[in-house]
Amino acid sequence: MRSLEGRKIYIHAMFRGGARLMAAAFRAAGLEAEVTGPSDAATLEVGSRYTGGDECLPARITVGDYMKVLLYARGEEARRIVLFMPGADGPCRFGQYAVHLRRLLREHGFEGTAVMSPTCADGYQMPSALHRTAWRAVLASDILLKLLLQHRPYEIAKGSADGLYRECVEEVARTIESAPLAPGPQMRALRRALITCRDRFRQLPVRREPTTPLIGVVGEIFCRLNSFSNADLVRRLEDYGAEVWLSDVAEWVWYSHAEQLRLLRLTGRRFSREAFAARLRAWIQRRDEQRLLKPFARDFAGYAEPSMKEILEAARPYLPQEGAIGEMVINVGKAACLARRGVDGIVDISPFTCMNGVVSEAIYPRLSRDLGGLPIRNFYFDGVETDLDADLGVFLELVRSYRGRKRVPRPWPWACPPQPSRARLADTYS
Ligand code: SF4
Repeated sequence: MRSLEGRKIYIHAMFRGGARLMAAAFRAAGLEAEVTGPSDAATLEVGSRYTGGDECLPARITVGDYMKVLLYARGEEARRIVLFMPGADGPCRFGQYAVHLRRLLREHGFEGTAVMSPTCADGYQMPSALHRTAWRAVLASDILLKLLLQHRPYEIAKGSADGLYRECVEEVARTIESAPLAPGPQMRALRRALITCRDRFRQLPVRREPTTPLIGVVGEIFCRLNSFSNADLVRRLEDYGAEVWLSDVAEWVWYSHAEQLRLLRLTGRRFSREAFAARLRAWIQRRDEQRLLKPFARDFAGYAEPSMKEILEAARPYLPQEGAIGEMVINVGKAACLARRGVDGIVDISPFTCMNGVVSEAIYPRLSRDLGGLPIRNFYFDGVETDLDADLGVFLELVRSYRGRKRVPRPWPWACPPQPSRARLADTYS
């Protein structure tokens, strides 16, 4: 933590709510943190200038947004800046982003600017004062985003759900920044803030229509969450009369835990100190997740995220965890799990040329057959404007036709009595 003192950490706004809460977690730990500005055409232009053309879209966008910050902050200010860039393993260029960014900084005279890069190989460990708060910030942002997506398609006043979401993000961010770092008081403050948000969403005027199709969205984590990258596809689906169940951020953290333990087993370290620490961390994180989700038992009834164990098992007939690594495994398994929960179609959002998207796309026809013809559609993005309307119209037609013959009804908590809490279904990764 010492090397971060006196420095300003920039967090990329993969999605604004999540980045705002992550910045709040850094501030709670006594660090100065800011979120990058919104991605726009200049982002792509600057990103293309500082990349070679082989990088995937998320690399161009994150590099573009970070370089925009640095170009405005040359000199002394740039030397104080730390860019937050988590890494990853697997058949994915993401693991190279931090390396690439460091090289860029050296080559363009920003030697003083640092890159902070926790990786999935160590379960995204960060300085201890920050680690647990950051995890809670991830959980809180997932909860707020889920609330938004459950309400926005049904709002009576256009823009009211987005407005309320922004207010709730600010409210929760202020709570994270001002609450004590001690785990107990912090949890109580965060739960109180989230309950206030929940109650405000419950009061949002909506007109719900039970025939609304529910679309599960999987895909590459950055592209599916960053509305600039995906041409606001989630909102476009809503404009076509759908509700979206968007895969959350915590899912990747749980996958990283599962992978970390698998690799420890594989290298004969199943009972090592490292494995014990990883299991303990997973247990603590699971407890945090259950406690934050408990007040939402009624709101999220039927919407509980599948455990990573369930996702990996569902993916096994197509992409076993031992033979395939990364988001392709999660996408295929998650699509199958969402089908069990009654979604009417699946959309996979991926950057153009992304290996994960390409492999998933090859599996989807068989998966769709095995799931009784569930419509599954890939959408690829490369930063160029495309006309999505024809594809979306056809996809939604298929969805409505599938809806008429499928067996599992979509979740509809608003007509149900409260159900027992089933946060994310608990499991272990031993
Ligand atoms: S998952 Fe695909 S798009 Fe994302 S960083 Fe990896 S290679 Fe690039």
